[in-house]
Amino acid sequence: MAAHTVYKEPAPKVDRENPLESMMSRFNIAAEILGLDEETYNVLKAADKQVIVHIPVTMDNGKVRVFEGYRVIHSTVLGPSKGGIRYDKNVHLDEVKALAAWMTWKCAVVDLPYGGAKGGIICEPTTMSAGEIERLTRGYTLAMKDVFGPDRDIPAPDMGTGPREMAWLMDEFSKTVGATSPAVVTGKPLVMGGSLGRTEATGRGVMVSTLAALKKLGLDPMQVSAAVQGFGNVGSWAAKLLSEQGVKIKAISDVSGAYWNADGINIDEAISYKNAHNGRLDGYTGAVLMENADDLLTTDVDVLVPAAVEDVITEHNAHDIKAKLIVEGANGPTSASADPIINEKGIMVVPDILANSGGVTVSYFEWVQNRQGFKWTEEMVTERADRIMSDAFEKVYQTSQKYKIPMRIAAYVVSIDKVAQTYKFRGGF
Ligand code: GLU
Repeated sequence: MAAHTVYKEPAPKVDRENPLESMMSRFNIAAEILGLDEETYNVLKAADKQVIVHIPVTMDNGKVRVFEGYRVIHSTVLGPSKGGIRYDKNVHLDEVKALAAWMTWKCAVVDLPYGGAKGGIICEPTTMSAGEIERLTRGYTLAMKDVFGPDRDIPAPDMGTGPREMAWLMDEFSKTVGATSPAVVTGKPLVMGGSLGRTEATGRGVMVSTLAALKKLGLDPMQVSAAVQGFGNVGSWAAKLLSEQGVKIKAISDVSGAYWNADGINIDEAISYKNAHNGRLDGYTGAVLMENADDLLTTDVDVLVPAAVEDVITEHNAHDIKAKLIVEGANGPTSASADPIINEKGIMVVPDILANSGGVTVSYFEWVQNRQGFKWTEEMVTERADRIMSDAFEKVYQTSQKYKIPMRIAAYVVSIDKVAQTYKFRGGF
C-alpha cells in the first residue's frame, strides 16, 4: 500500500505557546523596522508549500500502523530549501511551519545559498525498533520523493533523528532516482559522504557565539559559569566545548532531570555516563539531582544555554532568570511573551537563528563536498565554520547597535532584509 498525500491542516495543538505565533510576532517587529512593503511582507510570511503524508508501516508485531508526517517548505528565494526532520510525539503542523520559517532566517543570517524547510513525523522513536524506524523513514522518503532533491529540498537531522536515519533516506531516495545521490541529505554517517565536524557543528557554533557575546559584555570565559538545558547532540557538545574554554558548567539536564554541581560538572565524564546508560543521565552521581528540573533556567549562573525544546523561557519564569547572557542552542526556546521581560532586565540574547546556525553551516559544507566529490579536512571545516559564525555574530551585533534593538530582532532584520532584497531582484519564485 502506497503512502498518499493529503492537503488538509489538522487543528493546531494549544497546550503550549504556539511557536508559529512567536515567530510571526518577531517577524512583524523586524518587518516594521525595515519598512517592508506589503507585497514582500505577504510573500515572506506564508510558507510556499505544506505537504502532509500518511505513512503505513508494518510494525514488528505484524500490524500496520499509519503515521502522519509533514514537510513544510517556507521559502526558496535564496536557493533550494534546507532543514531537518523531527521525530517526536509532540510534532504538529504549526510547529513545523515555525521551524521551516526559522530555517529561512537562519540560512540567511549566515549567508548560505538556501531557503528554509522543516519536516516532522508524529511518532515515539524511543519506543520503536530500528526496523520500524527504518521502514518509517523509507516510507516518508518515498512519499516525499518529488519534494526532496539536491537542488530542490535538502533534509538533515533534527530532534529524534541522526546519521542512521539520514543514511536510510539517502539510500531510498537514490533508489527512486536510480543513482547514488549523496547531496540530497546532510548529516549522513562519515563513511557515506558525511562531513567531518558535522556532529559537533551546532554545539561548536553555540560555543563560538557565546565567546563572541562574552567579549562584548567584557566577561572572561575563565571566570563565568553556565547552565545547559538539554544533553542531546547540541547541549552535550555545547557544554563540552564551553568547558574546554574554561566556562564552569554548573548545571546540565535531560529528560531524567537537572543536575547541579557548584564546583563545575566534568562534562566528558557526564557524556561517557550518558553513552553507557541508554543516552540518559538517570542516576548520574557527578552532580546533585535538582528537585525541580525547571529550576535550571533560573539558577544562579552567568550564561544560560537552552538546548532542548521550544517555549521553555516564558512570561512565567523570565522574571526569575539570573543569567546575564542567554545563548539559544534550541530552536524557539523563548516565547515571544518573554522577550519584553528579558529586554527589560538587560539580558543579552544570542537568538536561535544565529546561535544554532553552526549545524546548517556545516550541512552546507557537506552538500558542497558531495557535489565536489572531494572531502575536506576537519581543519578546513572548523576554520570556515568558525569564521562564518563570528562574521554573522558581528553583523547582527552591529545591526542591533545601529537600530538600538535587541540581538534577536537584529537577526531577523539582517535575514529578512537579505531575503527581501533577493526576492526583489529575482522577481519572485
Ligand atoms: N535541524 C538543524 C537545525 O535546526 C539542522 C538543519 C540542517 O542542517 O539542514 O538547524
